[in-house]
Amino acid sequence: MGVTGGIGSGKSTVSRRLADLGAFVIDADEVAREVVEPGERALDKIRNRFGEKVIRADGTLDRAGLAAIVFGDPAALAALDQITGPPIAERVEQLRRTVGADAVSVYDMPLLVERGLWVHEHVTVVVEVDAETRVRRLVDKRGLDAADARRRIAAQASDEQRRTVADVVLDNHATPAVLASAVDDLWHTRLAPWNDNLLAGRRSRRPDHHAVVDPRPDWEARGERVVAKLAAALAVDPGVTEVSHIGSTSVPGLIAKDVIDVQIGVRSLVHADAAAFQAAVTDAGYVLTPDNTADRPKPGTDPAGWGKRFYGGCDPGQVVHVHVRERGSPGWRFALLFRDWLRATPAEREAYAAEKRRLLAVDASTDVYAEAKEPWFDSAYRRADRWAGHTGWAPR
Ligand code: ADP
Repeated sequence: MGVTGGIGSGKSTVSRRLADLGAFVIDADEVAREVVEPGERALDKIRNRFGEKVIRADGTLDRAGLAAIVFGDPAALAALDQITGPPIAERVEQLRRTVGADAVSVYDMPLLVERGLWVHEHVTVVVEVDAETRVRRLVDKRGLDAADARRRIAAQASDEQRRTVADVVLDNHATPAVLASAVDDLWHTRLAPWNDNLLAGRRSRRPDHHAVVDPRPDWEARGERVVAKLAAALAVDPGVTEVSHIGSTSVPGLIAKDVIDVQIGVRSLVHADAAAFQAAVTDAGYVLTPDNTADRPKPGTDPAGWGKRFYGGCDPGQVVHVHVRERGSPGWRFALLFRDWLRATPAEREAYAAEKRRLLAVDASTDVYAEAKEPWFDSAYRRADRWAGHTGWAPR
């Protein structure tokens, strides 16, 4: 997991608590200090680039002096990042390899959002406090100068940018004790069971007696985060063509089960059965359901075109279903078409919502529901297909 937040928000406080609970914490600031210690190659490179003036008499780096030089000078900052970035990444990798296989590893990283590194974490926790409170705490407790604290805050990502990638936001306006108890709660209700699920290869299931809920305002953002993380996990895989948020939660305004459905397009299902693909999806936190290998073919299509692979997410905090389908197959196409058609056609969205309500009244158990909605889907398929024909819709 990643822990981030603006300077003075309480990241270190959260990480310390997580360590008390048994997590293995990697502190990015500490690593950044280690890689520029005397004897490290990065320190020599800094000396070459910035001169003797950034080296103290005892041979250590004058961090404040260097910070003053690179602050407000993007080229100098980029040069510094280029020097320190690779050894930091290497050291973090190294530390992560030392984490026990069953432990939760925490990356405490101020720039997790700025550097786009959040996509590599199963979960991102953002610690949030308004800027003025942070300035006060930094001045009172860490002895920073107020103007300096404000400058540093202004140079970082905004709270809003951090919120976009946050799976969990911990508010730290109250006392440290309140924060600690929020961390404990998160650990016991979500992080520890999530880790147990990952270790056991057990996905978190939707309730059998399923609940259709009103559209949630965070579905779109949750979908985007899930997609971004899977896309990052599969970025180097040439057999993967795209990752998309699909299903009812991808259609704004539609009632739905609280499930984020995602489709991974692959060049061929043979590729999806390769060990490398399976390992990448599994490492991203998903569990293969081996017996779910096809959707029910829709009328008028090649029945052989509805094969798929199915994975479920392990996060007890949200249910995620991952459908792997062959790019260009009818099943792949329908998932994207159905979403775009419902997004574009309010009357059809309403008709689908009405059908869901009708079925709920008939029988609310998940299996019966899934079976009973097929006839409606068959006719919806024809209407969606006609819509695609006359609007010229094509999968993006
Ligand atoms: P970060 O690691 O995000 O820069 P810290 O965890 O070091 O932030 O917190 C900044 C300072 O504020 C520390 O001195 C910390 O002890 C203090 N602090 C953290 N949370 C609170 C709180 N809820 N109330 C008062 N002070 C706090």
